[in-house]
Amino acid sequence: MLIEWLVTRYLRHIIGAHMRFDDEPVGGRPPAPRRGHEYLLYVHIPFCEVLCPFCPFHRVRFREPRASRYFAALRQEIRRYHERGFDFSGVYVGGGTPTVVPEELAETLALIRSLYAVNEISVETNPNHLRAEVVSLLKSAGVNRLSVGVQSFDDVLLKEMGRYDSYGSSAFIVERLHSVQGVFDTLNADMMFNLPHQTLASLQNDLRILTDNVKVDQVSFYPLMTAPSTRQAMSLTMGEVTFRREKSFYKTILAAMKRGYQPSSAWCFSRGKSMIDEYIVDYDEYVGVGSGAFSYVDGTMYSSTFSTNCYIDQVDGGRTGITAARRLDPREQMDYDFLMKLFSLSMDKKAIEAKYHGGFHRTLWKELLTFKLLGALVEEGGRYRVTEKGMYYWVMMMREFFMGVNRLRDTMRSRIREEWRSEHMAVKPGDIVQRSGTEDTAGRGVS
Ligand code: SF4
Repeated sequence: MLIEWLVTRYLRHIIGAHMRFDDEPVGGRPPAPRRGHEYLLYVHIPFCEVLCPFCPFHRVRFREPRASRYFAALRQEIRRYHERGFDFSGVYVGGGTPTVVPEELAETLALIRSLYAVNEISVETNPNHLRAEVVSLLKSAGVNRLSVGVQSFDDVLLKEMGRYDSYGSSAFIVERLHSVQGVFDTLNADMMFNLPHQTLASLQNDLRILTDNVKVDQVSFYPLMTAPSTRQAMSLTMGEVTFRREKSFYKTILAAMKRGYQPSSAWCFSRGKSMIDEYIVDYDEYVGVGSGAFSYVDGTMYSSTFSTNCYIDQVDGGRTGITAARRLDPREQMDYDFLMKLFSLSMDKKAIEAKYHGGFHRTLWKELLTFKLLGALVEEGGRYRVTEKGMYYWVMMMREFFMGVNRLRDTMRSRIREEWRSEHMAVKPGDIVQRSGTEDTAGRGVS
């Protein structure tokens, strides 16, 4: 317990210090591709029919006219990266709810396939969108992996999460998952654990349904994560968050998932060959398009504006949606690789030393030694491997990393008004800017 507390404190300190963007606005300037490097294209669709209280992602309430303008801008931005010289081998469409307007998504995927030599497409969706016409549209659009936001099979918890009425009851979700079995190369269920009112019996029931009933190809079990912007809504609807039971819940998951599944990362379990789980883990570098998307290219992090209106205007003006960036120093890049690569449970020693010109072990020897002494890491066959005992440390570290990303999202949301000002008018500090019908006044619609 003390070790976990120390690791968490240390990580919060490190992540708090480094998870930020420069104050200098970037103004839509895209990064340049590097010869011989493989990139993933991340596409963000921020619209949702209902906004769940626990959700820290960039999402806004779905409204048809704005969504159509958004998709049109998205396609322009995708073309812009093609003109810039990028090629992408994989595509991950996340949200929000990417299937909120399936025809627009299909048109966007058709454009991507016409421009880039992609060999895998992963799309997130919600159970209520698992309808025959949507599924067949996704299939013909070339989608290989479908990831369904299930979260829990406990109706009481689904109600607390505000998902029962909009996204379906447990029985409905089970029936919908069965209906898409075998349609895609990989069917993934996104689950959550450590929900405030979740009991061990409820978690065990979720696990039984997964391993003995729906038997999806892949299960991603996310620990509950918080953000300053969601904490109040969460405590009102779902209860107070604590990490005290997280480890014992995780151990229960690890033991149960041995019934037919192999871990493909610290929190993702697959039946056979698995496809993209966490795209930021599977790809060293990625380009994000859409409002609120992040990119990581050549050691620099980028963020697009979190205002969908600014995004549309910026792309219409001939640029990308990027508004902020920061170059990571070599030590930060190594920390990032240490976390991401070992989250997938193993890392090639030769490849990582080659990437950092022989400096990886020399720089991170203390971290590597500490985790070895804790029995969390071993060296074998030219690789660093995370042990079963070590898997929980990477769950904790990734949870802290994503909570840092959530805080960064909150910061980016707070910049929306400034970004709108610099995009549209020269405004003196203290002026009040109002624009009706947008999500940008007083942060309405942006959570
Ligand atoms: S959990 Fe999914 S459906 Fe709910 S608000 Fe977040 S992105 Fe939208």
